[in-house]
This record gives sequence, structure tokens and C-alpha cells, in this order.
Amino acid sequence: MKHEGGCHCGKVRYSVETELEPLIRCNCSHCQAKGFVLTFVDPSAFTLHQGEDALSEYRFASENIQHLFCSNCGVESFARGKAPDGTSKIAINVHCLDGIDRFSLTPMDYPGRDK
Ligand SMILES: [Zn+2]
Repeated sequence: MKHEGGCHCGKVRYSVETELEPLIRCNCSHCQAKGFVLTFVDPSAFTLHQGEDALSEYRFASENIQHLFCSNCGVESFARGKAPDGTSKIAINVHCLDGIDRFSLTPMDYPGRDK
């Protein structure tokens, strides 16, 4: 299913093809601080329509993941990274998809704090 999403102020907008499965809630220091519910897609399923120039990057720890947040509103609506097998993935902040009510989501817990 195709979803539209982006940051809070609207500078960053994208579309993504995803069934929203699985949904992940991770307790690592970064995911917990930002309250993410994530799903992961191949780059071919993701199209950034606008806002590349508004993105600021944050990296930490292994620096494998480009955490990209809007320099205007501060919202990280997606990230670019690699799966453990080395394939490129886009992490979608599901809370940033249009029409999603976070109360309707039932994510799986991922113990990133222990990794
Ligand atoms: Zn923004």
C-alpha cells in the first residue's frame, strides 16, 4: 500500500510502498528518546519528493545509520541505513505517515538497548 509522509512543517515529503509489517519499537537510547515506531523498506519502495536540502544528519555509535531530521522542525521522518546483511534500507518513522493514529499501532518490541 502506498503511504505519504514527511516531517512536521512540510518541507520534507515522501511516499513509500509498505504494508506496515513488521512494526518495531526499539528501546535503544536513540529510539527511546525519539519515541519511534519504525518499519523498514528497500530504497526502491521509497521516493523523497522534496526536502533533501532541508535534511540534517545525525550519526552515533557505529554510524551505520544516517538519521535525517528536518533542520526547520526537527522531526526525523525517515533514516537511511544498512541491514545486518549489508543491504540498504530506509527506516520509516511510522508516526510521520499521513492519517496514522499511533494509538492504532501494535509494534513488536526490539531490545536494541541490549545489542
Ligand atoms: Zn520540517
